[in-house]
Amino acid sequence: MSVAKLAEFGTRHIARGVGRLVPEVIESGSGSYVTMVGGRKYLDFTVGIGVANLGHCHPAVTKAAQAQVGKLVHGQINIAFQKPYLELVESLLPMMPHKSLDTFFFWNSGAEAVEAAVKLARHATKKQNIIVMQGSYHGRTFGTMAMTRSKTVYGQNFGPLMPGVFSVDFPYCSQCAISSASNGKYGFENCCNDPILKLELLLKRETAPSDTAAIFIEPVLGEGGYVPPPADYLRRVREICDKHNILMVIDEVQSGFGRTGKMFAIEHWGVRPDIMTMAKGIANGFPLSAIVSRKELMDTQPPGSMGGTYAGNAVSCAAGVAVAKAFKDEKILENVNARGAELKAMLEGIWKDPKTSHMIKDIRGLGLMLAAEFTPGKSYASKVQAKCMEKGMLVLTTSIYDTLRFIPALNITPEDMAKGCQIIKEAIEEIAA
Ligand code: PMP
Repeated sequence: MSVAKLAEFGTRHIARGVGRLVPEVIESGSGSYVTMVGGRKYLDFTVGIGVANLGHCHPAVTKAAQAQVGKLVHGQINIAFQKPYLELVESLLPMMPHKSLDTFFFWNSGAEAVEAAVKLARHATKKQNIIVMQGSYHGRTFGTMAMTRSKTVYGQNFGPLMPGVFSVDFPYCSQCAISSASNGKYGFENCCNDPILKLELLLKRETAPSDTAAIFIEPVLGEGGYVPPPADYLRRVREICDKHNILMVIDEVQSGFGRTGKMFAIEHWGVRPDIMTMAKGIANGFPLSAIVSRKELMDTQPPGSMGGTYAGNAVSCAAGVAVAKAFKDEKILENVNARGAELKAMLEGIWKDPKTSHMIKDIRGLGLMLAAEFTPGKSYASKVQAKCMEKGMLVLTTSIYDTLRFIPALNITPEDMAKGCQIIKEAIEEIAA
């Protein structure tokens, strides 16, 4: 079948609700590149939406998965432990952002991990309500649809959704006139929109602390716009949680596993989560997610209340062990910080350049979780995205504001980063012209 026929077949027989960036068919992926049926090759700055963080088909991960397929594919964790599952726990333990995080539960997807965290928080506290951030994305299952506040499309016409979910503003400072005027040097204390005050008011007006089990936060807002919070924000949320006996759940599904230049984004602020969710980069593309918490909290749930047929699949766990080893062997975090600095410098250069500065509203992000927000009203993000694609590069938009996000492989080479920077720069300049 020709590429056009394959795409037509897919459009006919695959649910329309699955959106798609390009009407093409991916044949293979290697490192920072994907090759389409028909031979077109793209430099991939999406890596499966921040999943194949070590590049497509990382050799050591592939080898570990292949070896495991020959030994055991499905053991079922409700029947017995399985070796790769335990080895993965052993690999993850020293990587955790706080030593209290010592007890794991593995699931398949990010949304399931978030729901597992909701179950744990409700069960452990015997409280029902949860608080989420405006702009947050936690998934598309019934529970997580209620928690996702990045775009209405995820929940519209699917209600009623899970009750007991309240939301509060996340400090998205580039949207605030006062902080924009300070050109990036914002602090929420000066913000007309103080998010800590808003959280305190929410706990007074709508969901009393005695009804509130947990606050769920992405340490860097992901689908909502790649927004890191101001310096002291997460520590202040921790204080509120401690004061009111509310659990702090950090959703690291997108920001975890090196994406921001530290193993987990929460390490940038030194704050202790009560529960942390992980997925995406954990197994470089094999379906796997996890929650971690402290033992006395996790063990409030009785045997049998957690689990699922495919939870913690043996092949995915073996891939996860290889991912953890690659982080140790291949100086991944050093590369994230070096390449991230190059990409950010290029984007900031475009922001300063009189030819293009009028197009940019904000450049932000940490490590290789970077975003360019464009001046509103001109659909610049999708225009630049299309130009990048013409030039052989895949990039993604994010958030309801006109924003492009850049999430290349964490081990991208300096040459491929230089090539990516050149394409983005040219694309923006051509749109400006
Ligand atoms: N939480 C966050 C922060 C995410 O970015 C995502 C996925 N984009 C999810 C949860 C849901 O993960 P999944 O798509 O694997 O269900």
